[in-house]
Amino acid sequence: MSVNIHINSPDVKYTDTHIVSQYSYQTSSVQRDGNKVTVTPRTTEMTFRTERRVPRLGVMLVGWGGNNGTTVTAAVLANKLDLTWRTKTGLKKANYFGSFLQASTVCLGSGLEGDVNVPFRDLLPMVHPDDIVFDGWDISSMDLGSAMERAQVLDWSLQEQLRPHMSSMKPRASIYTPEFIAANQKSRADNVLTGTMAEQVEQIRADIRDFHQLSGVDKVIVLWTANTERFCDVRPGVHDSAKNLLAAIQSGAEVSPSSLFAVASILEGCAYINGSPQNTFVPGVVELAEQRGVFIGGDDFKSGQTKIKSVLVDFLVSAGIKPTAIVSYNHLGNNDGKNLSAPQQFHSKEVSKSNVVDDMVQSNPILYKPGEKPDHCVVIKYVPYVGDSKRAMDEYTSEIMMGGTNTIALHNTCEDSLLASPIILDLVMLTELCQRVTVRPQGEEDFQSFHSVLALLSFLCKAPLVPSGTPVVNAYFRQRACIENILRACLGLPPQNHMLLEHKLQ
Ligand code: NAD
Repeated sequence: MSVNIHINSPDVKYTDTHIVSQYSYQTSSVQRDGNKVTVTPRTTEMTFRTERRVPRLGVMLVGWGGNNGTTVTAAVLANKLDLTWRTKTGLKKANYFGSFLQASTVCLGSGLEGDVNVPFRDLLPMVHPDDIVFDGWDISSMDLGSAMERAQVLDWSLQEQLRPHMSSMKPRASIYTPEFIAANQKSRADNVLTGTMAEQVEQIRADIRDFHQLSGVDKVIVLWTANTERFCDVRPGVHDSAKNLLAAIQSGAEVSPSSLFAVASILEGCAYINGSPQNTFVPGVVELAEQRGVFIGGDDFKSGQTKIKSVLVDFLVSAGIKPTAIVSYNHLGNNDGKNLSAPQQFHSKEVSKSNVVDDMVQSNPILYKPGEKPDHCVVIKYVPYVGDSKRAMDEYTSEIMMGGTNTIALHNTCEDSLLASPIILDLVMLTELCQRVTVRPQGEEDFQSFHSVLALLSFLCKAPLVPSGTPVVNAYFRQRACIENILRACLGLPPQNHMLLEHKLQ
């Protein structure tokens, strides 16, 4: 059941088409001269404008027939059809647990009955996942019903109810360049495009238009949830500018399939999100997105081990405890694990997982000297028997007072795709909302969109992509507060400050 929020303020206007809020954005400018730090508070007046009409959203997944692709499609169908199913532990009901927009709340303030918490999804008009229409590509031709069975994620009695709906869904043929993913993936590649690289990009563009038209959706977002690719060599004259990249596609130079999908998507004006760790967003792709004013976001879903890391290290460092060694071990037995068992693909994941503590470490010069970092090691092993039920074991060793040592060991087991699927939904719902928000700083004539590199998605990504020269934030609660406070700004509400002064004075 949704909550209807109305803001009672002269600074907020509801027109037929928009919510318009006047907002005072407060920051501090800091000057440092040796040990002397001078802080100047600043206030910038801004107008936020949010379009109220929620469009019908189409989402095209690259890797639709994989574990994440089939699971997210099945989960949305199960919710839409309000399905229940029996397991040995009782009756289960479809839900969206794990989606921060659908299943978490924000506190709006307090009333007579104390704090009023409302679902995040009700803050502003947003797409409901039940209404998303899915389509996509896969190098494997298997229909989504059979692919769901191959994934071994959902309970059998749920699969039986979903199969009649999923079997008619067939992935479109995709771009396959064998050397970008592990050689062990070759046997499933029976649904691949042929022709030159330029022709294949044209085909992807035609697919997007075809889906747009046939499904009757208002807008399309494309999201990569296909296999992790090896890093692409970023070469001058090829990947370094939009012009060179487009020329390289015509001449058939080395461009990764994921970058080709990004280019096709941007040229069609569709936001493109990268759920895997590879360097899809070479400078030429980023420039193309900026030129066309299209959102791009990534990289790599922040679903399990890294999510915990971005909470735990933030907690330790902000508590004044010094993490000195973080060792993360994983084993998994799904097709993602099989692909990651090849060294080059593992390397992409290792890099994506490794920088996650940097901002937290750098924020505390009392604990860490310049350039000092904790030892950080990531291991991933492929163990087919455990399937999608990934095991992640972490050991955090920290230095505490007077040379003491504190060791925290974690063991985390759960279905990987049931963590990633709600994140896929959050990524597309948040991106879609951002497409309807514009901001006008005081004194400027025009409303502006967010930057093409949609840093707001950082919360959902292991290795956040941010506009060049801007800070990367990995700390979980800072990332979440950023989204909450920007959505509050759209409603003319001040940032959540947790001061509760009204309860602290006499
Ligand atoms: P999966 O192997 O089950 O699915 C990937 C699918 O992509 C397969 O069906 C494969 O046939 C297809 N594919 C490969 N290359 C393709 C191409 N060029 N075009 C179209 N399809 C292609 O893997 P998964 O478990 O669904 O994970 C998908 C991706 O998400 C992986 O890269 C993984 O590293 C990443 N990821 C997953 C999680 C998680 O929690 N599940 C977290 C972070 C990142």
